[in-house]
Amino acid sequence: MKVEKINTKKAGMYENVLKQFNKAADIVALNEGVRKILSHTNNEIVVHFPVKMDSGEIEIFTGYRVQHNNYLGPYKGGLRYHPTVDIDAARALAAWMTWKTALVGLPYGGGKGGIKIDPKNYTKSELERITRRFVYALGDNIGPDLDIPAPDVNTNAQVMAWIADTYASIKSMAERQKNMHVVTGKPVGSGGLEGRDRATGFGVVSIIHEWAVQNNYDLENKTFIVQGFGNVGYWAAKFLGQLGAKLIAIQDISGTILNEKGIDPDQLLNYTRINGGDIVGFVDSRLMANQEFFGIDCDIIIPAALGNQITTENCNDIKATLIAEGANGPLEVEAEKILLDREVVILPDILCNAGGVIGSYYEWLQNKRSENWKLDEVLQKIDEKLSDAFNKVNSTSMELSTDFRTSAYVVALRRLEQTYLERGVFP
Ligand code: GLU
Repeated sequence: MKVEKINTKKAGMYENVLKQFNKAADIVALNEGVRKILSHTNNEIVVHFPVKMDSGEIEIFTGYRVQHNNYLGPYKGGLRYHPTVDIDAARALAAWMTWKTALVGLPYGGGKGGIKIDPKNYTKSELERITRRFVYALGDNIGPDLDIPAPDVNTNAQVMAWIADTYASIKSMAERQKNMHVVTGKPVGSGGLEGRDRATGFGVVSIIHEWAVQNNYDLENKTFIVQGFGNVGYWAAKFLGQLGAKLIAIQDISGTILNEKGIDPDQLLNYTRINGGDIVGFVDSRLMANQEFFGIDCDIIIPAALGNQITTENCNDIKATLIAEGANGPLEVEAEKILLDREVVILPDILCNAGGVIGSYYEWLQNKRSENWKLDEVLQKIDEKLSDAFNKVNSTSMELSTDFRTSAYVVALRRLEQTYLERGVFP
């Protein structure tokens, strides 16, 4: 049976961000000057660079790094390797990082980038050369106190190790060791943080848990489905399972699998490791049509793949009453309006997936202090920051009688506005 690809449409992502931003800016009557500044990105870097393939042929790649805002600290955000990466996606994702870091109170701004490729089409050694040459092309546009990349869709600790190594290698001998924290999400042996791998998925579940406690919602035996079985999807499924909820369906690029009796994320992970990363074919499940995924009868949906997956075309099928956004921008703005009218609760990306960048912050601090922190300590710190952010969003939502996304934006924008008004605009 031929399975259709999951929806990779991402048109107008930045336009969506501006709609979300303006809605919140209107509600808080954001200072007009600050509104103008935050409606634009600071810098947009596009690089074209050559790489020698295993065949000996030269291929030209296009990489992006958009630096949206750095008023609260260095630009921070991931690098994504995906065919949908373009300037519009990078702008949107960079702006979301500005709101996310402001919301959870980190001393960072927002940036994002990546390379427009499908990594499945390249060998490991080609990916290494593509990564290293991208870092070389970016040169001093990134740096440990300037702009700090991290993993995102299709990039991982290995890619971060190549980035750190390449960046350090183009510095002078005396400066090399001081530059490993140019990137976060590194392997633990190369300065990475225990727990950074699970930080985003852990954070998604922390936020679900916070919301559940506030609303007397018993997670035991609730059913959930996850779109995407990468780092975020796997860990979110695992942690939510530990709270008693049952994973019944997953969708990835290979297709959609379902088992109402429950799917064990660890068994599935083992299967994907011998199946080229794909979930389809897992014995303890049956295949279903991709377009039926969001309409599955369940309590909670965790989109943990790409943007614009829940659209005006499929949102009316949704039966779940809670959506926890592990991905960035998985809901179209118009679809969100329909779901909010139906009183579906939406825990927004900038809150719900912020565990990742909080983990990155602790990795960066750990590197700056030449320390090594323990897993329990790290997860507890992430949980505390998220709990604090959730409480602020929750009380703002009650104060303004508005949805969680708008409230999350309001918390972030108030922090940015206050800083702009204190420091002013140079000269
Ligand atoms: N890519 C992740 C995000 O979208 C993590 C970014 C980071 O750790 O800097 O939040």
